[in-house]
Amino acid sequence: MTIQSRDYWFERAQGLKIEGRAYIDGRYVASVTGETFRSVNPANGLGFVDVASCDVRDVDIAVGAARRAFDGWARMAPADRKKILLRFAELILANRDELALLETLNVGKPITNTTTGDIPSAANCIAWSAEAIDKIYGEVAPGAWDMTTLVVREPLGVVAAVVPWNYPMSMSAWKIGPALATGNCMILKPAEQSPLSAIRLAALATEAGVPDGVFNVIPGFGHTAGKALGLHADVDCITFTGSTEVGKYFLQYSAQSNAKRVSLELGGKSPHIVLADCSDLDGAAKAVAAGIFANAGQVCNAGSRLIVEEGIRDAFLERVVSIAKALSPGDPLDPATRLGPLVDDTQLGRVLDYIDIGQKEGARLVAGGARTLLDSNGYYLSPTVFDGVSNSMRIAQEEIFGPVLCALTVRDFDEAISVANDTIYGLAAAVWTDDIRKAHRAAKSLRAGVVWVNCFDKGSMSAPFGGFKQSGFGRDKSLHALEKYTDLKSIWIAH
Ligand code: NAP
Ligand code: MG
Repeated sequence: MTIQSRDYWFERAQGLKIEGRAYIDGRYVASVTGETFRSVNPANGLGFVDVASCDVRDVDIAVGAARRAFDGWARMAPADRKKILLRFAELILANRDELALLETLNVGKPITNTTTGDIPSAANCIAWSAEAIDKIYGEVAPGAWDMTTLVVREPLGVVAAVVPWNYPMSMSAWKIGPALATGNCMILKPAEQSPLSAIRLAALATEAGVPDGVFNVIPGFGHTAGKALGLHADVDCITFTGSTEVGKYFLQYSAQSNAKRVSLELGGKSPHIVLADCSDLDGAAKAVAAGIFANAGQVCNAGSRLIVEEGIRDAFLERVVSIAKALSPGDPLDPATRLGPLVDDTQLGRVLDYIDIGQKEGARLVAGGARTLLDSNGYYLSPTVFDGVSNSMRIAQEEIFGPVLCALTVRDFDEAISVANDTIYGLAAAVWTDDIRKAHRAAKSLRAGVVWVNCFDKGSMSAPFGGFKQSGFGRDKSLHALEKYTDLKSIWIAH
């Protein structure tokens, strides 16, 4: 895929018309209070668009619209819903450059990644879910001669998706695809840092033929719009991606309101194990570096804990550190950039605090550790590596969500597995080894929803994604994702 030049992106960014209003019942609307907040470009720290700040009143209006639209959408033949959603996916691709630009300006993700990754993968997720929907059958349960028992799946009704800022389009699409395909209506609340692509997406849905009210976008804050969705008595399901802390709030909101279904895709502190018998240390080092520095480490499944067997420790760490030092951040609108800024000043401050904590805990800083490109006023941080980390340190236990790798040394396989599993999280894990028995044993022993062997961060729509332990429950992607948005009904027909 050819990516446009630097000049093209800078010019296009200048002329871009950006919508900041909410999208409810098929049209753009200001928030009821008229209040807005300012979206900031993390590459230069400048505000560039005012966005509707929705609260409980806007949520109420959107839930009403979604409820009214539900019967029509849910009763449409799956093949017809499929056609509309396939058109939606096509429109996302047709507007790829604009969506990529919105994403890059909003969260600082390199334009190369948004054009070739985030946007096409979001389109693919919606198309994949749409294609599945007229190929899934119900069941006829075995029973008596004079009774027919059907087991069918029905949509839940009004689904609210609350999503984070690190992959705004992809995380939204992982919810939109299966929820809409199965016949639900939706309200999407993007993170306050990243509302712009979601708002644009809503208008594309209408253009594709999605009926009014079926897909609504409510920008706003977590403690206002997010909480109002969590507590709303007419929302049937919350599908959440974000931190473990906020995920737990949604369980409380559900308990305090209507026992709505909640599925949670939460944080991680994924172990990336390299065993001494690994013959491809260069390949493993590249994967370890990409696994923590991609998207500036703001990745739920980032391989933030490198667990390396002592025999190869020096040789391996040297390789990783040299990759880290060679990787310098740059303007995300430049197609040559591989590492952009962190999303905002709060996140930068949080990550810098952890770098401080790590040093105080006695870990050795062997790469990065400081802000960079200061003249830009952007939130750039050099790729950072800590050596001499022990698993009891806060930097080894808490999710930093930045380009900070913690290296831990272990004596053998058993210690590697036990250190890997010694965390409250269980989203993903990886192991590098040439020994097939160790590969299988590790894959079974690691307590995580996704395990990679001799690779990292592989995924497709055909395989589910989600966590064990406090990384959440419920799965995104694959046919299993459709289960989250449907309920089983048993129908007994006597004859
Ligand atoms: P976050 O702070 O938990 O926020 C996620 C969403 O929840 C945002 O839309 C946020 O709105 C909203 N929210 C915040 N406080 C709320 C409250 N009291 N009530 C209701 N809603 C509330 O997470 P984030 O900082 O955006 O994203 C980073 C986190 O997401 C990391 O922990 C990362 O691991 C996790 N993540 C997980 C996955 C996965 O698939 N497992 C994928 C990506 C990211 P505001 O923006 O207004 O705060
Ligand atoms: Mg937040």
